[in-house]
Amino acid sequence: MVKSKNKESYNKIFSKLKDHHKWFENSIPLIASENVPSPAVREAIISDFGNRYAEGWPGERVYAGCIYIDEVETECMKLAKKLYKAKFADVRPVSGVVANLAIYSAFSDPGDIMLAPSIPAGGHISHGKKEHSGTAGLVHGLEIEFYPFDAEEMTIDVDKSKAKIKELEKSGRLPKLAMFGGSLFLFPHPVKELADFLKSYDIHINYDAAHVAGLIAGGKFQDPLREGADTMTMSTHKTLFGPQGGLVLGSKDHEEPIKKAMFPGLTSSHHIHHMAGKAIAFAEALEFGKDYANQILKNAKALGEELNNLGFRVLGESRGFTKSHQIAVNVLDYSDGGKVEAELEKANIIVNRQLIPGDIKAGRNYFHPGGIRLGVSELTRLGMKKGEMKQIANFIKEIVIEKKDPKKLLSKVKAFRKNYQKVHYCFDNKLGAYEYVKLR
Ligand SMILES: *Cc1c(COP(=O)(O)O)cnc(C)c1O
Repeated sequence: MVKSKNKESYNKIFSKLKDHHKWFENSIPLIASENVPSPAVREAIISDFGNRYAEGWPGERVYAGCIYIDEVETECMKLAKKLYKAKFADVRPVSGVVANLAIYSAFSDPGDIMLAPSIPAGGHISHGKKEHSGTAGLVHGLEIEFYPFDAEEMTIDVDKSKAKIKELEKSGRLPKLAMFGGSLFLFPHPVKELADFLKSYDIHINYDAAHVAGLIAGGKFQDPLREGADTMTMSTHKTLFGPQGGLVLGSKDHEEPIKKAMFPGLTSSHHIHHMAGKAIAFAEALEFGKDYANQILKNAKALGEELNNLGFRVLGESRGFTKSHQIAVNVLDYSDGGKVEAELEKANIIVNRQLIPGDIKAGRNYFHPGGIRLGVSELTRLGMKKGEMKQIANFIKEIVIEKKDPKKLLSKVKAFRKNYQKVHYCFDNKLGAYEYVKLR
């Protein structure tokens, strides 16, 4: 019999998937936008919901066959509203980017202006300009104006932002939307401080909680909907418990335009299995979110302090390094963010390079920026505490400052990692965090 090339490819995919699981079992995952879901969420996303369509809204579907889907989606919305004390939730966005697009579509027209943080100031590409292929500019035709940023305080400058908005109004370019939130996000944004001012100009305020959704749910960051944000968007898998997806929240006044933007505007299928997974994650966050967020803040601070003690230039020093799950480190004393990322990966320490304030002016780019970004959400979910953060800071020092061969550290990293193989802050954790499930 001739060996099937197709079967070879088929087998290869499974073997790579297994390799990946094994690798993460032995790694220190510090990507701030990632997390590990509970076995319960994984069970939901392999259900038959993933093979169905449920276009529209529960009770108003376009297809039959949605009896149980409708019940789950209704529960999912109920849980989302409870978790964030919101009057309206749309759980259909398949990602954070799609959630932001729903806001752009519902509350602005192409050619309108949006205020947002620039990328070195922590902004996300979905808030970006057309010339950078940013979603807001490229897909919805928005013009972007950046908030003035205070690099010392690592947050939006309130007074300069007010002055900028006055200037924009004078030149006939008053923004329609104001976007808060970001991807490099160490400290809360001044929503409370700017909300009345923005509202006096009738500017719609959206808060993008993609990164900090789990901290907000746990009551450990700012509370944007109480501080004056009209709507809030997020990813459901960064500091929240997954699976990958998006969510939009608002008040009753925002319900109709958001629903129309989401369907038929931005979705046909909304990935029903992930919707079920989100419902599980919201229930977990309601039950365990406070403890989880509390531990995240302790861990992030401990990591920042230890890296600083070891000689690193950790951003936001004057404010205690962080009030979120993230730490940002300027590594220009040793090399650049791109090279550091690659070296650490050889020792199974997974981080990402990061543009930091000053990079663009100095001519540095995304491939070789001045910083790295570290997030502790996944390690915290695995049960790590302050002591483990110190050990991780030491591994990083050995590689980046002492320039030790990362390959030689590999066995130490694996040994360190061995005892953290379960997901914490969940109802059931029989399956290991990175245990590969074979169904064939
Ligand atoms: C990650 C991120 C997004 C995008 O979320 P996806 O779920 O990956 O589409 C949007 N906004 C911010 C601020 C982010 O950090």
